[in-house]
Amino acid sequence: MSADCIFCKIAKGEIPSNKVFEDDQFIVFHDIKPIAPVHFLIVPKAHIESLLSTEVTHQDLLGKALLMAPKLALQLGLKGFRTMINTGREGGQEVFHLHIHVFGGSAVLPRT
Ligand code: 5GP
Ligand code: ZN
Repeated sequence: MSADCIFCKIAKGEIPSNKVFEDDQFIVFHDIKPIAPVHFLIVPKAHIESLLSTEVTHQDLLGKALLMAPKLALQLGLKGFRTMINTGREGGQEVFHLHIHVFGGSAVLPRT
C-alpha cells in the first residue's frame, strides 16, 4: 500500500470502481476514461510502481495477470482485444501502480 496511490485505494475499496473481477491478488475494473467500447484495467493489489520495478520474484504474478486478459475479455463479449502496459513517464504512464490495459469492441482500433 502506498498512501497516495489511487489504485491502492481502489484495491482497498476506499475509492469506488466499476469492478469486473477481484481475488486476493488482483482487482480488475473498467477504466474511468475508456478509449474503446470495452476498456478495463488488470491491477495487482500489491503496490508495484511499474514494469521497471519488477523482478523475477514477480514472475508468477505477471503470468497470472496476462492470463486474466483473454479470460475476462471473452466474458465481456470481446472476440479480440489490445493490451497495453505504459511504463514510466516516457512510456506514457500516469498512474504509478502497475496495470495492464485491455481494450476492444471497435472494428478498427487506432494504432496507439
Ligand atoms: P496509465 O497512463 O497510467 O497507463 O493509465 C492510467 C489509466 O487509469 C487511465 O486510462 C485513466 O483513465 C485510469 N484511471 C485513472 N484514475 C482512475 C480512477 O480513479 N478510476 C478508474 N476506474 N480509472 C482511473
Ligand atoms: Zn498503489
